[in-house]
Amino acid sequence: MSSFRDDVYRMYDRAVSFLALPPGLSERIKTCSVLLHMKIPVRVEGDVRLFDAYRAQHSFHRKPVKGGIRFDAAVTADEVVALATLMTFKCALVNVPFGGAKGGVRIDPRAESADTLERVTRRYTAELFWRNCIGPGVDVPAPDMGTGPREMAWIADTYATLNPADIDPLACVTGKPVTQGGIRGRNEATGRGVQYGLREFFRVPADVKGCGLDGGLEGKRVIVQGLGNVGYHAAKFLQEEDGCRIVGIIERDGALWNDDGLSVEAIAQHIRAKKTVRGFTGAKLVERGADVLTSPCDILLPAATEGQITNGNADAIQARLVVEAANGPTTAEASDTLTRRGIAILPDLYINAGGVTVSYFEWSKNLAHMRFGRMSRRIDQQRRGQMMRAIEDMTSSRFTPEQWATVAQGAGEIDHVRSGLDDTMCEALAEVREARDRYKVPDLRTASFIVAIQKVVTSNLELGLWP
Ligand code: NAD
Repeated sequence: MSSFRDDVYRMYDRAVSFLALPPGLSERIKTCSVLLHMKIPVRVEGDVRLFDAYRAQHSFHRKPVKGGIRFDAAVTADEVVALATLMTFKCALVNVPFGGAKGGVRIDPRAESADTLERVTRRYTAELFWRNCIGPGVDVPAPDMGTGPREMAWIADTYATLNPADIDPLACVTGKPVTQGGIRGRNEATGRGVQYGLREFFRVPADVKGCGLDGGLEGKRVIVQGLGNVGYHAAKFLQEEDGCRIVGIIERDGALWNDDGLSVEAIAQHIRAKKTVRGFTGAKLVERGADVLTSPCDILLPAATEGQITNGNADAIQARLVVEAANGPTTAEASDTLTRRGIAILPDLYINAGGVTVSYFEWSKNLAHMRFGRMSRRIDQQRRGQMMRAIEDMTSSRFTPEQWATVAQGAGEIDHVRSGLDDTMCEALAEVREARDRYKVPDLRTASFIVAIQKVVTSNLELGLWP
């Protein structure tokens, strides 16, 4: 069986075969530059435990490098290299000026106390710092599976303590709580990006028809795997704002099913309280959750982890559109099988890029030391008000209170973030569609890699090699 990294390389090689690259450049761009494997000692209740911890820095064609930190019992070097590689091409695809990186600690966060997690996070940060592997201009981590705003706040605080003279310490990590230098909309950003990307996909009827669907998102039956940060937000927005029917939710310990639709919010609350999907009323429990991946639906949205759609189940997938909210949920072989069967894939490289996009906004905000909209919102609001009053005077008509409340508003931070994210997702898909048509490739994954590789190639050629 091929590894996650082999699969990413295979997808990369496929895209490169459409491009005439100078000798040696393809290998250089594909290969991960730095792989750090540390054994980090952490004092836990009087004892000292050693944890395997990694940081992979894939490409320095742009600096800083950037990528999440995963806390999971199954973290391996192979996995962080695969994820760092995807990050390089994801950033290039959505025009976020970073190289790719990824980190991980082999730890099961659900089995550890908050105190242990804090000690591990802070020690990991210190170990990265001692090796010059963290900093606003060097390497900027973010959340991934098993980590969130809490861990990012610990990282920022540890880095700031180790760098008392630095005026930009908050820019050393993104995904922080808003009260600790984070940005509004970052926590939901990956799910929000999935929603914007899907909306954009459905704006081109030929693409929708091409995979055997029709119409818009309204009423589409969706199965979501993994109700964590990404899956929860994507499912919630699609259900509440686009009229999708979430018929299946797959978690580690089983799946919930209801043909009439599940309440994402009610299930999320149940999981938060009980730490399991079991015991939720109003849905059928399926003991072997993974079986639900092949249940009938229009859209399958894997948002858990890699290697979920393989050659073992790709032939049985009934969805017409697979939306890779997770990284690497489909193996390279399974991806080919789905494409052969006319099932469209919105690839991870594109569809889950909302997280790093808003991380870029957060990093920029931290370096500017000011929230977006702070200097423009009030003047924006005044000018819009003047314009609306002038229209009322000229037409002798009156805007409704609702129109005043929406149209006259100046743009605050969350408006800037959503606008920037929406624009990013739309522009990137336009580039991907253009590459698909120009190079006549059958799938959006290869087209996404082509767009991204071309940008990394240009950057490498312009910079040359020194010393
Ligand atoms: P998370 O830890 O918040 O949530 C993961 C969820 O998946 C959890 O509810 C977990 O119980 C569930 N899960 C794990 N393994 C499962 C399995 N085998 N079957 C069913 N459910 C399973 O993690 P997250 O941040 O939401 O990340 C999920 C995926 O999205 C990962 O692949 C990650 O790399 C990717 N991603 C995350 C971000 C981000 O901003 N957090 C950005 C881009 C991509």
